[in-house]
Amino acid sequence: MIDISWKQSLQNAIKNTSKNLMQFDEVLSYSPAYYISSYECPICYNSVLYKMRVRGANTVFKGQTYSLFNLFTCPECKVIYASITETNLNNFTNLPLSSFALLSEKYSTIREYKNVLDYTVRFQQG
Ligand SMILES: [Zn+2]
Repeated sequence: MIDISWKQSLQNAIKNTSKNLMQFDEVLSYSPAYYISSYECPICYNSVLYKMRVRGANTVFKGQTYSLFNLFTCPECKVIYASITETNLNNFTNLPLSSFALLSEKYSTIREYKNVLDYTVRFQQG
């Protein structure tokens, strides 16, 4: 169970960046487990999102349990995003972050932000 305080869900809100990915660091300095993705942060539009695979770890948002697929983070905004796996009977669909995302609260200090990144690393899968 990934214990992150989710603030809201976002539908069809996250797009691919039009920026050159070469201008971003390949590895997030706060946590090497996260690597660069092609998604742009929909809050600041100034950073790409960094990604880590979690594959099936559960989390709770508004009393409902979600099966997570990937975690993402924006180091400018100090927030965490998550993409989910939707289960329908025996069908599993990995929804892209662009169609559905959970968004965490904003962590107010670097220390708090780094703590939550360190915490998430134990759920890394592959
Ligand atoms: Zn951002």
